[in-house]
This record gives sequence, structure tokens and C-alpha cells, in this order.
Amino acid sequence: ALDPSSLVTFGSAAAGHDGVLSDSSGTLVIKPCTPAEIAFYESANTSHPDLAAYMPLYMGTLQLSAPDAAAASTASTGDEVGTAASLALSDPGPLKGKKLDTGVSIVLENVAAGFRKPNIMDIKLGARLYDDSTKPEKRARLDKVAAETTSSSLGFRIAGMRTWLGGEDSMAERDGDDTISFEAGSGYKLFNKLYGRKFAAENVVDAFREYVLVPSAGVSKVQAANCVQRFIRDLKDLQQIFEKIESRMYSASILLVYEGDPDAYAAATKAETEYSAQEEMQEDDEEEEEEAPPKIAVVKLIDFAHASWTPGQGPDENLLQGVRSTIRIMEELAAELGTS
Ligand code: ADP
Ligand code: MN
Repeated sequence: ALDPSSLVTFGSAAAGHDGVLSDSSGTLVIKPCTPAEIAFYESANTSHPDLAAYMPLYMGTLQLSAPDAAAASTASTGDEVGTAASLALSDPGPLKGKKLDTGVSIVLENVAAGFRKPNIMDIKLGARLYDDSTKPEKRARLDKVAAETTSSSLGFRIAGMRTWLGGEDSMAERDGDDTISFEAGSGYKLFNKLYGRKFAAENVVDAFREYVLVPSAGVSKVQAANCVQRFIRDLKDLQQIFEKIESRMYSASILLVYEGDPDAYAAATKAETEYSAQEEMQEDDEEEEEEAPPKIAVVKLIDFAHASWTPGQGPDENLLQGVRSTIRIMEELAAELGTS
């Protein structure tokens, strides 16, 4: 069960609205959500397990109520958590999110947990960014941003990033740049939503390079190339899955995470080698279950506020354009970094 007093503001969000929370251990993300997002998570595991493998683990929902309605706090949980959790907040301070005022929060696996210094990129998918229920004014607004960014040309734009600089503020040139900042407490460089809007199809590879290559923290070309290869492998797998699925997702994101601490990265690659050697030796021996090795790089799909299953409508070309473009830019970067 969740301890209400342990909930804190989630510190690793790369983009999106305020109001995302985490538990004290940092293994969970508790996020205001729409009914559509709950429905999508609840059906994914059974109806599309191959896609669910690329989604954060769904733990259930949580009703966070205002102080005067505390008695009405309830919670329901998904398959992964067997016990119910309930919660009444005495101080709804950071929770005044639009969605939460009326509804419920979703409890998910924190994809960045298990990394020592997670470097995170949120890639917002789609040239069209709204579902059928969206009003004309909002459609026009979202279409305008899309037209002015790589959303229209590539089917994605970078919604935000955070990279660990190694602790020290090593951002030499940022005069007048309101798209980047340094988070002194954590040592992270933050790239806000305006950062990704500045790029065009021709130079967006520069942003990906900035994400995977962080010299001040000691992230080398070799590490960057290795992480890019892992991203490409998973993205190609995801592309294949989407070519077979009939769904529509507007404004969903690819969430990329890799280990930004070179020492932790080295330890994780070493552990991975040893782990696979162990697996090979113990093929038929199920008694000694090895613990999963620390993470190196992961690709997940998030943000299903405007997602639904649409049997009979064929694959989601709006989303696929963004996935294919992301792979192409990553391959461009891989070639530049000097890998096969
Ligand atoms: P919205 O864009 O509607 O505010 P998102 O689902 O996109 O909501 O979440 C906002 C941000 O929070 C994302 O950019 C991501 O950095 C972070 N985030 C969301 N879900 C997770 C998760 N399960 N694990 C780790 N980070 C997450
Ligand atoms: Mn989002």
C-alpha cells in the first residue's frame, strides 16, 4: 500500500504538465490522467501484450481527494499490485492540475528508476496532435505549432530533455537562451518544450547528439554510440508492432532513458555480460534465479491521454511517421558516431 505522506513531486519529468508525483522509493509515477488513458492501460496487457512490453508497468489508479472530501478517498489497483491503496491528502498543494481536479490519477512504474543518473528525452509523436473530440480552436492552435516545428515535417518533435552534466554547472553559453537551464540541486541540464521547437528536419540531429553525448559528465562517443544502437533496435521493434496494430494515438510520446553516469554505465555493461553468460550456463537450471542487471538504455511509449484501439482502421500512420523519422535520425547519428 502507498503511504500518503511519502508522496513527493516527481523530479525526473522531461516534459508535460506539473502535478506528477512519485513515492518515497522513486519506483512509482503517479500522474493525473484521463479516463481514456486508464482504459488504454487496462486493456493493453491482455489485448496487445507486445505493445504493453513497451509501456510502463500499470499498477492501478488512485483517487486523490481534496481535504474536505478526504473520507471519499478510494483506490483500485491493476493486476501487478494485489493490495488496494487508499489515500487522503491534507495538502493538495502541487496537485492543482487540471485533470486531477475532476478525476483520478494513474499509478505507473517509473521508467527512470534503476538508473543512477537517468538522461531522458521525450519525443512527442504525430503531425496531428488531437483526437476527434477536440474543439476547432484547440485544433488550430496545435496545427500551428506542428506547422512551425518538426511535428509536421517529421511526425515528431522533441518535447523536452534532461541530461546530467556531472554535477558542476558547465553550461558556458546560455545568455538569452530561455530554452535551457541548469538545475543546481541535481546537476542536470534541462531543455524545455521551446528547445525542441527551434529545430527543423535538417538540423534536429543536433538535438539528439546533445542528448546522447555529454562530455562534461564523461559520456564518451563509444557510450553514446552503444546507447543509440540500443534505441534503434527497440524503435525498429516498436515500428513493426505498430505496423500490425490498429490503434490511434494523438500526442503520445517515445520516452528514451539511458544511464548518464559513466561509472554506472560501465558497471551495467559489465553486469549485463556476466548476466548473459550466467543465463547460458544455467539454461536448464531454474533454481538459481539471477537478479536482473542494472539498466543501460530503455525505450518506452507514454502518454495515452488521447489513445484508443480502432479495429478495422488499419495502422496508425500519423504515429508511424514519427517512429520511422526518429529511427532515421538515430541512424544518421549512429553513422556520425562511427558505428556500424
Ligand atoms: P502530460 O504530457 O500529459 O503532462 P506525460 O504522460 O507525457 O503527461 O508525462 C509527463 C512527463 O512525465 C514525461 O515527459 C516523462 O518525462 C514523465 N513520465 C511520465 N510517465 C512516466 C513514467 N512512467 N516513468 C518515468 N517518467 C514518466
Ligand atoms: Mn506528454
